[in-house]
Amino acid sequence: MTTILKTEGLRKVYHLGNFPRNIPVHALNDVNLNIESDEPVIISVVGESGSGKTTLAKVILRLVEPTSGKVTVQDRVVVGERGKGKPEKTEFLSTVQPIFQNPFEAFSRYRTVDSYLYETATRVKKLNKLGAIDAVEEALASVGLEYKDVRGKYPNQFSGGELQRVSIARALIPRPGIIVADEPVSMIDASRRMIIINLFLSLKQEYRTSILYITHDLATAYYISDYIAVMNHGSIVEFGKARQVLSDPQHAYTRLLLDSIPTTKKKWEREKE
Ligand code: ADP
Ligand code: MG
Repeated sequence: MTTILKTEGLRKVYHLGNFPRNIPVHALNDVNLNIESDEPVIISVVGESGSGKTTLAKVILRLVEPTSGKVTVQDRVVVGERGKGKPEKTEFLSTVQPIFQNPFEAFSRYRTVDSYLYETATRVKKLNKLGAIDAVEEALASVGLEYKDVRGKYPNQFSGGELQRVSIARALIPRPGIIVADEPVSMIDASRRMIIINLFLSLKQEYRTSILYITHDLATAYYISDYIAVMNHGSIVEFGKARQVLSDPQHAYTRLLLDSIPTTKKKWEREKE
Protein backbone atom coordinates (compact mmCIF):
# COMPACT_ATOMS: atom_id res chain seq x y z
CA MET A 1 0.00 0.00 0.00
CA THR A 2 1.18 3.49 -0.83
CA THR A 3 0.72 6.30 1.64
CA ILE A 4 -0.88 8.77 -0.74
CA LEU A 5 -1.24 11.49 1.86
CA LYS A 6 -0.64 11.51 5.58
CA THR A 7 -0.61 14.43 7.98
CA GLU A 8 0.45 13.93 11.57
CA GLY A 9 -0.21 16.40 14.34
CA LEU A 10 -0.35 19.31 11.91
CA ARG A 11 -0.75 22.67 13.58
CA LYS A 12 -0.57 26.20 12.30
CA VAL A 13 -0.93 29.17 14.58
CA TYR A 14 -1.09 32.62 13.03
CA HIS A 15 -0.69 35.67 15.20
CA LEU A 16 -2.87 38.66 14.59
CA GLY A 17 -1.65 42.00 15.86
CA ASN A 18 1.59 42.78 17.66
CA PHE A 19 3.20 41.43 20.79
CA PRO A 20 2.17 41.49 23.62
CA ARG A 21 -1.40 41.93 22.47
CA ASN A 22 -1.39 39.52 19.60
CA ILE A 23 -4.18 37.06 19.24
CA PRO A 24 -3.32 33.50 18.23
CA VAL A 25 -5.44 32.02 15.42
CA HIS A 26 -5.35 28.24 15.37
CA ALA A 27 -5.82 27.71 11.64
CA LEU A 28 -4.81 24.06 11.90
CA ASN A 29 -5.38 22.36 15.19
CA ASP A 30 -3.84 18.87 15.20
CA VAL A 31 -4.83 17.67 11.73
CA ASN A 32 -4.35 13.94 11.27
CA LEU A 33 -5.23 12.36 7.96
CA ASN A 34 -4.07 9.08 6.49
CA ILE A 35 -4.96 7.83 3.04
CA GLU A 36 -3.34 4.61 1.92
CA SER A 37 -4.21 3.06 -1.41
CA ASP A 38 -2.67 1.37 -4.40
CA GLU A 39 -5.20 3.00 -6.68
CA PRO A 40 -5.44 6.76 -7.24
CA VAL A 41 -8.13 8.39 -5.12
CA ILE A 42 -9.97 11.66 -4.86
CA ILE A 43 -10.13 13.01 -1.33
CA SER A 44 -12.35 15.98 -0.63
CA VAL A 45 -11.76 18.36 2.23
CA VAL A 46 -14.99 20.18 2.97
CA GLY A 47 -15.74 22.86 5.50
CA GLU A 48 -17.06 26.34 5.73
CA SER A 49 -15.01 29.45 5.11
CA GLY A 50 -12.31 29.95 7.75
CA SER A 51 -12.16 26.29 8.78
CA GLY A 52 -8.51 25.99 7.71
CA LYS A 53 -8.80 24.35 4.27
CA THR A 54 -6.48 26.75 2.43
CA THR A 55 -3.94 26.64 5.23
CA LEU A 56 -3.94 22.84 5.00
CA ALA A 57 -3.45 23.03 1.22
CA LYS A 58 -0.61 25.53 1.58
CA VAL A 59 1.16 23.46 4.21
CA ILE A 60 0.96 20.34 2.01
CA LEU A 61 2.23 22.41 -0.93
CA ARG A 62 5.08 23.74 1.23
CA LEU A 63 3.93 27.32 0.72
CA VAL A 64 3.34 27.77 4.46
CA GLU A 65 5.52 26.37 7.21
CA PRO A 66 3.44 24.58 9.86
CA THR A 67 3.93 25.42 13.54
CA SER A 68 4.40 21.70 14.10
CA GLY A 69 3.61 18.37 12.52
CA LYS A 70 4.55 16.27 9.56
CA VAL A 71 3.27 15.57 6.03
CA THR A 72 3.98 12.45 3.99
CA VAL A 73 3.12 12.28 0.28
CA GLN A 74 3.62 9.14 -1.82
CA ASP A 75 5.57 7.47 1.00
CA ARG A 76 7.94 10.43 1.34
CA VAL A 77 8.12 12.92 4.19
CA VAL A 78 7.83 16.32 2.51
CA VAL A 79 7.09 18.61 5.47
CA GLY A 80 8.36 18.50 9.04
CA GLU A 81 11.15 16.37 10.45
CA ARG A 82 14.37 18.30 10.35
CA GLY A 83 17.37 17.11 8.46
CA LYS A 84 18.05 15.43 5.18
CA GLY A 85 15.93 13.28 2.94
CA LYS A 86 13.22 15.74 2.04
CA PRO A 87 12.85 16.27 -1.70
CA GLU A 88 14.23 19.53 -3.08
CA LYS A 89 11.85 21.85 -4.89
CA THR A 90 11.94 20.39 -8.42
CA GLU A 91 11.62 16.85 -7.14
CA PHE A 92 8.81 17.92 -4.83
CA LEU A 93 6.92 19.55 -7.71
CA SER A 94 7.14 16.36 -9.73
CA THR A 95 5.18 14.65 -6.93
CA VAL A 96 2.77 17.34 -5.77
CA GLN A 97 1.18 19.95 -8.03
CA PRO A 98 -1.16 22.80 -7.11
CA ILE A 99 -4.30 24.20 -8.68
CA PHE A 100 -5.52 27.44 -7.17
CA GLN A 101 -8.88 29.06 -6.77
CA ASN A 102 -8.30 31.96 -9.13
CA PRO A 103 -6.57 30.97 -12.36
CA PHE A 104 -6.02 34.63 -13.23
CA GLU A 105 -3.78 34.92 -10.18
CA ALA A 106 -1.82 31.82 -11.12
CA PHE A 107 -0.55 33.36 -14.37
CA SER A 108 1.07 36.74 -14.90
CA ARG A 109 -0.97 38.86 -17.28
CA TYR A 110 2.23 39.82 -19.08
CA ARG A 111 3.28 36.30 -19.97
CA THR A 112 1.81 33.89 -22.50
CA VAL A 113 0.25 30.94 -20.72
CA ASP A 114 1.99 28.36 -22.89
CA SER A 115 5.34 29.66 -21.62
CA TYR A 116 4.33 28.38 -18.17
CA LEU A 117 3.57 24.94 -19.52
CA TYR A 118 6.79 24.87 -21.46
CA GLU A 119 8.73 25.94 -18.37
CA THR A 120 7.16 23.17 -16.26
CA ALA A 121 8.05 20.63 -18.96
CA THR A 122 11.70 21.72 -19.21
CA ARG A 123 12.43 22.64 -15.57
CA VAL A 124 10.37 20.18 -13.57
CA LYS A 125 10.00 17.31 -16.01
CA LYS A 126 13.45 18.08 -17.45
CA LEU A 127 12.42 17.47 -21.06
CA ASN A 128 14.32 18.85 -24.03
CA LYS A 129 12.73 21.34 -26.41
CA LEU A 130 10.91 18.88 -28.64
CA GLY A 131 9.91 16.61 -25.79
CA ALA A 132 8.54 19.62 -23.95
CA ILE A 133 6.34 20.66 -26.86
CA ASP A 134 4.96 17.13 -27.11
CA ALA A 135 4.24 17.08 -23.38
CA VAL A 136 2.50 20.45 -23.55
CA GLU A 137 0.34 19.34 -26.48
CA GLU A 138 -0.57 16.12 -24.77
CA ALA A 139 -1.43 17.79 -21.47
CA LEU A 140 -3.61 20.37 -23.21
CA ALA A 141 -5.38 17.64 -25.16
CA SER A 142 -6.13 15.86 -21.87
CA VAL A 143 -8.07 18.89 -20.67
CA GLY A 144 -9.86 19.31 -23.99
CA LEU A 145 -7.77 22.16 -25.42
CA GLU A 146 -5.66 22.38 -28.55
CA TYR A 147 -2.13 23.72 -28.50
CA LYS A 148 -2.78 25.92 -31.52
CA ASP A 149 -5.65 27.63 -29.66
CA VAL A 150 -3.49 28.33 -26.60
CA ARG A 151 -0.11 29.17 -28.13
CA GLY A 152 1.00 32.80 -27.82
CA LYS A 153 -2.08 33.85 -25.85
CA TYR A 154 -2.21 35.84 -22.64
CA PRO A 155 -4.42 35.02 -19.62
CA ASN A 156 -7.01 37.68 -20.44
CA GLN A 157 -7.72 35.97 -23.77
CA PHE A 158 -9.29 33.03 -21.95
CA SER A 159 -12.45 32.56 -19.92
CA GLY A 160 -11.99 31.54 -16.28
CA GLY A 161 -12.98 27.97 -17.07
CA GLU A 162 -10.55 27.70 -19.99
CA LEU A 163 -7.72 29.21 -17.97
CA GLN A 164 -8.40 26.82 -15.12
CA ARG A 165 -8.13 23.97 -17.63
CA VAL A 166 -4.78 25.38 -18.76
CA SER A 167 -3.60 25.37 -15.15
CA ILE A 168 -4.76 21.77 -14.79
CA ALA A 169 -2.80 20.91 -17.96
CA ARG A 170 0.25 22.57 -16.44
CA ALA A 171 -0.17 20.57 -13.25
CA LEU A 172 -0.36 17.31 -15.23
CA ILE A 173 2.91 17.74 -17.12
CA PRO A 174 5.18 16.39 -14.35
CA ARG A 175 2.78 13.44 -13.92
CA PRO A 176 2.40 14.15 -10.19
CA GLY A 177 1.22 11.54 -7.73
CA ILE A 178 -1.19 14.05 -6.25
CA ILE A 179 -2.78 17.34 -7.25
CA VAL A 180 -3.89 19.71 -4.51
CA ALA A 181 -6.79 21.76 -5.85
CA ASP A 182 -8.00 24.54 -3.55
CA GLU A 183 -11.57 25.51 -4.48
CA PRO A 184 -10.77 25.03 -8.17
CA VAL A 185 -14.29 25.73 -9.44
CA SER A 186 -15.57 28.34 -7.02
CA MET A 187 -14.64 31.20 -9.37
CA ILE A 188 -15.78 29.43 -12.52
CA ASP A 189 -19.18 30.08 -14.11
CA ALA A 190 -21.68 27.66 -12.65
CA SER A 191 -22.48 26.33 -16.14
CA ARG A 192 -18.82 25.36 -16.67
CA ARG A 193 -18.05 23.82 -13.31
CA MET A 194 -19.04 20.29 -14.20
CA ILE A 195 -16.57 20.27 -17.10
CA ILE A 196 -13.76 20.64 -14.60
CA ILE A 197 -15.26 18.31 -12.04
CA ASN A 198 -15.67 15.60 -14.67
CA LEU A 199 -12.15 16.29 -15.87
CA PHE A 200 -10.82 15.43 -12.41
CA LEU A 201 -12.63 12.11 -12.56
CA SER A 202 -11.16 11.21 -15.93
CA LEU A 203 -7.65 12.35 -14.97
CA LYS A 204 -7.72 10.10 -11.95
CA GLN A 205 -8.14 7.19 -14.38
CA GLU A 206 -5.97 8.36 -17.28
CA TYR A 207 -3.08 9.91 -15.40
CA ARG A 208 -3.50 7.82 -12.26
CA THR A 209 -3.21 11.02 -10.25
CA SER A 210 -4.77 11.34 -6.82
CA ILE A 211 -6.52 14.62 -6.12
CA LEU A 212 -7.01 16.51 -2.89
CA TYR A 213 -10.13 18.45 -3.76
CA ILE A 214 -10.76 21.32 -1.36
CA THR A 215 -14.22 22.79 -1.44
CA HIS A 216 -17.08 24.23 0.54
CA ASP A 217 -19.45 22.51 -1.88
CA LEU A 218 -20.64 19.17 -0.52
CA ALA A 219 -22.54 18.29 -3.68
CA THR A 220 -19.48 18.19 -5.95
CA ALA A 221 -17.45 16.60 -3.15
CA TYR A 222 -19.95 13.77 -2.96
CA TYR A 223 -20.03 13.46 -6.74
CA ILE A 224 -16.30 12.94 -7.27
CA SER A 225 -14.80 11.73 -4.00
CA ASP A 226 -13.65 8.41 -2.78
CA TYR A 227 -13.01 9.89 0.66
CA ILE A 228 -14.31 12.96 2.44
CA ALA A 229 -12.70 14.82 5.33
CA VAL A 230 -14.88 17.39 7.07
CA MET A 231 -13.02 20.31 8.63
CA ASN A 232 -14.28 22.62 11.32
CA HIS A 233 -12.25 25.20 13.25
CA GLY A 234 -8.92 23.78 12.12
CA SER A 235 -9.68 20.15 12.91
CA ILE A 236 -10.88 17.19 10.90
CA VAL A 237 -14.14 16.32 12.60
CA GLU A 238 -15.09 13.46 10.33
CA PHE A 239 -13.29 11.29 7.80
CA GLY A 240 -14.28 8.27 5.79
CA LYS A 241 -15.54 6.88 2.51
CA ALA A 242 -17.62 9.55 0.78
CA ARG A 243 -20.81 7.56 0.70
CA GLN A 244 -20.52 6.59 4.33
CA VAL A 245 -19.74 10.09 5.60
CA LEU A 246 -22.64 11.64 3.77
CA SER A 247 -25.22 8.92 4.18
CA ASP A 248 -24.51 8.35 7.84
CA PRO A 249 -22.84 11.46 9.27
CA GLN A 250 -21.58 10.91 12.81
CA HIS A 251 -20.67 14.43 13.67
CA ALA A 252 -23.17 17.20 14.40
CA TYR A 253 -21.21 19.58 12.21
CA THR A 254 -21.41 17.24 9.20
CA ARG A 255 -25.17 16.96 9.69
CA LEU A 256 -25.39 20.71 9.82
CA LEU A 257 -23.47 20.98 6.55
CA LEU A 258 -25.77 18.42 4.97
CA ASP A 259 -28.90 20.13 6.17
CA SER A 260 -27.76 23.37 4.60
CA ILE A 261 -27.98 21.79 1.14
CA PRO A 262 -31.57 20.60 0.77
CA THR A 263 -31.43 19.63 -2.92
CA THR A 264 -28.46 17.30 -2.64
CA LYS A 265 -29.83 15.79 0.51
CA LYS A 266 -32.91 14.80 -1.44
CA LYS A 267 -30.67 13.14 -4.01
CA TRP A 268 -29.03 11.00 -1.32
CA GLU A 269 -32.37 10.02 0.08
CA ARG A 270 -33.53 8.99 -3.39
CA GLU A 271 -30.46 6.82 -3.78
CA LYS A 272 -31.04 5.09 -0.50
CA GLU A 273 -34.52 4.00 -1.51
P1 ADP B 1 -10.52 28.35 4.60
O1 ADP B 1 -9.67 28.13 3.39
O2 ADP B 1 -11.23 27.12 5.07
O3 ADP B 1 -11.49 29.48 4.40
P2 ADP B 1 -8.12 29.44 5.85
O4 ADP B 1 -7.10 28.37 5.93
O5 ADP B 1 -7.97 30.44 4.76
O6 ADP B 1 -9.58 28.76 5.83
O7 ADP B 1 -8.15 30.23 7.23
C1 ADP B 1 -8.22 29.59 8.49
C2 ADP B 1 -8.07 30.60 9.60
O8 ADP B 1 -6.76 31.15 9.59
C3 ADP B 1 -9.03 31.79 9.44
O9 ADP B 1 -9.43 32.18 10.73
C4 ADP B 1 -8.15 32.85 8.81
O10 ADP B 1 -8.59 34.14 9.13
C5 ADP B 1 -6.79 32.55 9.42
N1 ADP B 1 -5.69 32.92 8.50
C6 ADP B 1 -5.43 32.40 7.28
N2 ADP B 1 -4.33 32.93 6.75
C7 ADP B 1 -3.84 33.81 7.66
C8 ADP B 1 -2.71 34.69 7.71
N3 ADP B 1 -1.84 34.75 6.72
N4 ADP B 1 -2.56 35.45 8.82
C9 ADP B 1 -3.42 35.40 9.85
N5 ADP B 1 -4.50 34.58 9.87
C10 ADP B 1 -4.72 33.81 8.80
MG1 MG C 1 -9.83 28.84 1.43
